[in-house]
Amino acid sequence: MIDSQNKKISTKAEQINESVIREMTRVALQYGAVNLAQGFPDFSCPRELKRAACEAIEEDINQYAITWGDRAFRHAIAEKVNWYLGLAVDPERQITVTCGSTEAMVATMLATVNPGDEIIVFEPYYENYGPDAIIASAKPRYVKLHPPDWTFDETELRQAFNNNTKAIIINTPHNPTGKVFSDEELTLIAELCQQWDVLAFTDEIYEHILYDETKHVAIATLPGMEERTVTINGLSKTYSVTGWRVGYILANPQLTSAIRKIHDFLTVGAPAPLQRAGVAAMQLPVSYYQDLAASYREKRDTLLQTLDELEISYYVPKGAYYVLANIARFGYKSDLEFTYHLIKDIGVAVVPGSSFFSRSEQGHSFIRFCFSKKTETLLAARDRLLKLYK
Ligand code: GLN
Repeated sequence: MIDSQNKKISTKAEQINESVIREMTRVALQYGAVNLAQGFPDFSCPRELKRAACEAIEEDINQYAITWGDRAFRHAIAEKVNWYLGLAVDPERQITVTCGSTEAMVATMLATVNPGDEIIVFEPYYENYGPDAIIASAKPRYVKLHPPDWTFDETELRQAFNNNTKAIIINTPHNPTGKVFSDEELTLIAELCQQWDVLAFTDEIYEHILYDETKHVAIATLPGMEERTVTINGLSKTYSVTGWRVGYILANPQLTSAIRKIHDFLTVGAPAPLQRAGVAAMQLPVSYYQDLAASYREKRDTLLQTLDELEISYYVPKGAYYVLANIARFGYKSDLEFTYHLIKDIGVAVVPGSSFFSRSEQGHSFIRFCFSKKTETLLAARDRLLKLYK
């Protein structure tokens, strides 16, 4: 009985486990823990977006949008990426709107990768890239980011490129470390991509969440890279609407037409009224982004202060909204055991570090805190975390 059941499950599905990040949210709800695990805000999105979404529904934008994205939204995206990234994209031939950047990455891989192709992934990495590679039959090749600055070793990176390399995944600002890739690092990556004829898949979902004068550089803007870069982004993090599931992909027309076909048969399209509301997001003034970064800096500092009080060591994030902390000194067998202790006994949910590594033992001394929360939530977490020493 068990055997015949197993035969019904594909080897791909068998290789994939439930997302630990999403599991932690589920377990947090079960135990009433303050959720500093999954990366989503517990505060409101901008009023302009709420209003635009309600208006779109009232105006009967309730049927399918064009499969690759609402025209008005695509044009608004093109204008916005032009001013922010300095990238000129043709909204008719170079943009695909997807169900979040999660679908964007899978659709990109499915549109470009053949079985056995290798994809270079910097480690630690956002959990999804592992299952994405399995779904696309790609072979991940990991290149370590080394603490404390999470830099990569040039020789290690060079050695990862070979004739089977199809693409490299870049995620800047980086989840979970908060690293922001420098111009020099991206320039080296760009050179190697051109030397080996490799694509760059760049997940820039945290592009506006930057601290300490750090600048965001889009690899697509480096010489020779526009043609071979797939830039992935979305509304979720910048506009605090993770549940809307609206993402987008910028790529050259040839890659875009392949990606659009995959996207069409995967999902047909992202929610039409929410895409139209995305026009309002793209038209927010520059001050919106300045306020966003300033408010995240305060949140970051609130959490870091708590960690200082608790004498938990951490890596100061330069971007994104996570802190990777070191828990080695608590003496737990694994990060998972410590995480469950935090959730059940202390009442704070975090993500165990092993979810960001290919071999779980590499992450055993880390946990990730998310600080995309109201100050009161971060302070409630603090009160609970102080129990760690009682
Ligand atoms: N990026 C978020 C995180 O790392 C979660 C994204 C998701 O769950 N889809 O927590």
